Amino acid sequence: MSELVIEGLRAEAGGREILRGVTLTVRSGEVHAVMGPNGSGKSTLSHVLMGRPGYTVTGGSVTLDGVDVLAMAAWERAQAGLFLAMQYPTEVPGVSLQDALAAAFTAAGRDVAEVPGLVLAEAGRIGFDERFLTRPLNVDLSGGEKKRNETLQLGVLRPKFAVLDELDSGLDVDALRACARRIEQATAETGLGVLAITHYRRLLDELKSDVVHVFVKGEIVASGGAELADELEDTGYAGYGAEEAEVEGVVDPFADPFADPLGSTGRPEIEDPFGGPGSIG
Ligand code: ADP
Ligand code: MG
Repeated sequence: MSELVIEGLRAEAGGREILRGVTLTVRSGEVHAVMGPNGSGKSTLSHVLMGRPGYTVTGGSVTLDGVDVLAMAAWERAQAGLFLAMQYPTEVPGVSLQDALAAAFTAAGRDVAEVPGLVLAEAGRIGFDERFLTRPLNVDLSGGEKKRNETLQLGVLRPKFAVLDELDSGLDVDALRACARRIEQATAETGLGVLAITHYRRLLDELKSDVVHVFVKGEIVASGGAELADELEDTGYAGYGAEEAEVEGVVDPFADPFADPLGSTGRPEIEDPFGGPGSIG
């Protein structure tokens, strides 16, 4: 049994406070949904958890089984068992999915010879066409194919905890069902703990959430059972203090999937492909 504990987490980007004290504990096998409007800081939370550059943690803590996660480099977090499925997965020209997974296996001291077989088995489980497996990582893949790619990596890597940032965006209904079901199975098969960030309820039809958190303006403002997701679908976030603009999503500069998410910080978009599974996922 593992525990990912986030306590009073505060973080800034571009000189502005975006996370304003996030407190949340995920245990092995649990699924926590984090639902909130565009621009509320959901992706920032996922990036800060994984150690993506461009953010400054100004308060609080994150521990994995008592070990300080914020003190670790991104690749160390991945090795410790954290996995991030990014909202807009990074394209890594010149590195195939198999290469990336082989590097992660080597880093984790796992047998690289198992990678091809596991990749094929996982591709079969989520109906992912084999011809994508040899392509450079995420290059020229559609949004939905990238998300299946992320799910496949998760299946092969078997992390302890996965942060899924809008896994549902860009996925058609069938692909969404396949990916969500695969992740749901991982919670039972390997005790995966999940932080599923989304603003649509449909992801949660297959991926059964134990707890739903409402995330507005950088903090969790309410938590409840799965029924809370239904309520949000009906009434939106306005009752939880979200601005009209947030509800409409017009303040999200990352709405364009082709935008460089860190462009405003001048940081390179492509991370070190050998930095570990977290930086790939
Ligand atoms: P969400 O994923 O909930 O839509 P984000 O975490 O992407 O929200 O963004 C929350 C807010 O933080 C937005 O207003 C966004 O402009 C800002 N933000 C996020 N990352 C950065 C950054 N690297 N530099 C400056 N502002 C950022
Ligand atoms: Mg986001």
